[in-house]
Amino acid sequence: MKPNPAAATAAAIGGVDFTSGRYRLVQAASPASYAVQIDMRGMVPWEEWPMTPDASPVRVTLEYLNQRYIVQAGSGAAGLWNFEFRKRLAADSQPFDVIATRSAGWGDLPWLKLVAWAAFVAVTLSALLALVRQRSERRRAQELLRLGQVARLNTLGELAAGMAHELNQPLTAILANTQAAKRLLDDDPPELSTARDAMARAVEQARRASDVVGRMRRVVERPEVGGSLQAVDLQGTVRNALYLLEPECKRLGIQFALSGDALSVKADPVALEQIIHNLLTNALQALAQVPPSERALTIAMQPEHKLGVLTICDSGPGITADILPRIFEPFFTTRDGGLGLGLSLCESLATDMGGTLTATNAAQRGALFRLSLPLAEPA
Ligand code: ADP
Repeated sequence: MKPNPAAATAAAIGGVDFTSGRYRLVQAASPASYAVQIDMRGMVPWEEWPMTPDASPVRVTLEYLNQRYIVQAGSGAAGLWNFEFRKRLAADSQPFDVIATRSAGWGDLPWLKLVAWAAFVAVTLSALLALVRQRSERRRAQELLRLGQVARLNTLGELAAGMAHELNQPLTAILANTQAAKRLLDDDPPELSTARDAMARAVEQARRASDVVGRMRRVVERPEVGGSLQAVDLQGTVRNALYLLEPECKRLGIQFALSGDALSVKADPVALEQIIHNLLTNALQALAQVPPSERALTIAMQPEHKLGVLTICDSGPGITADILPRIFEPFFTTRDGGLGLGLSLCESLATDMGGTLTATNAAQRGALFRLSLPLAEPA
């Protein structure tokens, strides 16, 4: 019978204690017997061994049944965490379990690397955070700049629209008056006195236009609206505005009644003139919508406590309840080609001079505007 070396090896190992790492394998046979002395340490391929046997903290053992051979003792002391690697050697001649154990405690952790890694992560994170913060700051600054630009554009637009609105009327009047004067001078014989009147009106309107431009320039130069407040003759200003609108009143056949005493109010003369002119122009436009026989304009001035109050009441269609709350809104208009800036400008000017401007419907018919301004202190 052919001998079975594996069975013989197993049988032999089973019979010896190999904890010392040295044992003999004996094959008894006839006519000769064989014995092999095994030194387990010599079987370890130390050149390829992945650890330094004396310094490594890993403990490596070979185990068979209850016997254990220590290949590498391991220098590590017992720690908090224990790791174990176990593998059965597949060869029939070496039916051992290879067991590698490693115990680690706080002291075994690679603190230097950990600290370096934590520092690296912290620096990277804070750099990222700074970048994100810088970006959002930049976005906010850009947004503010954009808003500022929009606000400036809006203001400029409003100013330009306001100027167009304010200049349109005097320029139209200048054109009409000079054309009329030219016609009158072309007559044979020329109507010198009427032409002179027309030219005087044109001069007045040109002065008004120049005042408006001057005032707008002052507003641009000095942001606070209002100009210099001084004692202004309210009645004189109303009369002057009526004088400028006289041809239009005549054309529309408007009967107007002016009542009240001479009052001195604290105002910017050009701003006051602008308000009154706007209110009267609006009234004429409203009156143009009713039959000529029904067109009436009532202007009154009276002192009330420490205020000088001017009321301008027309017999036009009045202001419907849905329009009334919006009438002072910028760009609110019901007129074709209207800008809707006249009343909002008037209200701002009145407020800037310490006064108020309100709108209601008159008791009988039409709209009633009421301008209150502080009375000038007696000199
Ligand atoms: P605009 O004349 O360019 O429309 P305004 O600010 O002067 O702008 O007026 C705004 C609106 O107020 C007008 O479109 C009109 O509907 C209304 N309104 C102003 N004055 C009168 C008035 N006397 N009677 C009736 N409605 C008026």
